[in-house]
Amino acid sequence: MFDKWPTKLNLELSTACNAACPQCSRYLDDDPELGIVENPNLPQNTLTLDVLKTLIDYEWLKQAKHIKFEGTHGEPTMAKDCIDILRWFREVNPTVTFALHTNGSTRNKDWWRELAQFFQYHPDRRSAVTFSLDGIEDTNHIYRRRTVWKKIMENAQAFIDAGGVAVWDMIVFEHNEHQVLTARKLAKSMGFFSFGIKVSQRTLIRPIKWLKQPKTWKDNQGTGTVKINCIGKQFDELFLSANGLYMPCCFINENAYGPAMPSTQKEIEEVLGDFSQYHSSHGLDHALELFHRVSDRWETNPMEICKNMCGNGHWPDRLQQKQVSEVWPKNFQTRWKETIESTDL
Ligand code: SF4
Ligand code: SF4
Repeated sequence: MFDKWPTKLNLELSTACNAACPQCSRYLDDDPELGIVENPNLPQNTLTLDVLKTLIDYEWLKQAKHIKFEGTHGEPTMAKDCIDILRWFREVNPTVTFALHTNGSTRNKDWWRELAQFFQYHPDRRSAVTFSLDGIEDTNHIYRRRTVWKKIMENAQAFIDAGGVAVWDMIVFEHNEHQVLTARKLAKSMGFFSFGIKVSQRTLIRPIKWLKQPKTWKDNQGTGTVKINCIGKQFDELFLSANGLYMPCCFINENAYGPAMPSTQKEIEEVLGDFSQYHSSHGLDHALELFHRVSDRWETNPMEICKNMCGNGHWPDRLQQKQVSEVWPKNFQTRWKETIESTDL
């Protein structure tokens, strides 16, 4: 899959989260009696700095270009050592850039001010925190359940005022599509670096009755081609889970434990085999060798997950994400100060 060590890393610091988004793989579908229920298949863990030092290969870290704190099942700022981990990365590799994706509703203003030191604007080495804010005061919590708007706004403003580069990323649903312009104005007035909108493909993969795609969005049928254009490879991005596993990509890690698409989950288990083989303690080269189990099938018998995420439209019937920006005027996808490469975010 990778011909050499990837230069970027998607690092999942934690499987814990303060929020409970209805389509997040760390939760089952809501139970009529119990309400929000955690996915029992997902091994829960949060990385500490001490543990991370035993997982990350120093030689790899010294040549790394970019580390993205995103993962698939948790909120990175839940990790108590989050800032210490950023500091350690920079000490070992002073030029590495960072991205961090958050719901913004954790910690306090002081913590976010402190975080900003790692996300200062630099014309050549771009780092940014992406705040996933799906609406404004009266709508964000509809999807980002359990988050608190006032706290998010205070945290984001503290981060921006301390010089941190912040990006507002909004998933547009039917319930918030009337607020895109308002959210965009708010983002600009607060000093966000950029504002972007998108439609989530999860609404097709894991439909939820009360969660609807925006009316302004037109579905884009897949072309039916199965040629795999691996996003992980294109981004040159390795994935390390909060459980210490190198996984081929975020899509595989997200679907490896369910709960959506049981057949996809089963195939991942069958093709990858025992996940413990992928533990980083076996070394990066060992993991890259194992990834051939996925990539060797691309030409002849690609996995469902590869066809669906990187093979252009092979989810049952239809699934090709179309950015709302293709429907709405281009200037909705706005960067006010300077373009940041989307792969870095
Ligand atoms: S904020 Fe992210 S990790 Fe937390 S519940 Fe939502 S999607 Fe899942
Ligand atoms: S789903 Fe398959 S093709 Fe797509 S990024 Fe992951 S490994 Fe690559």
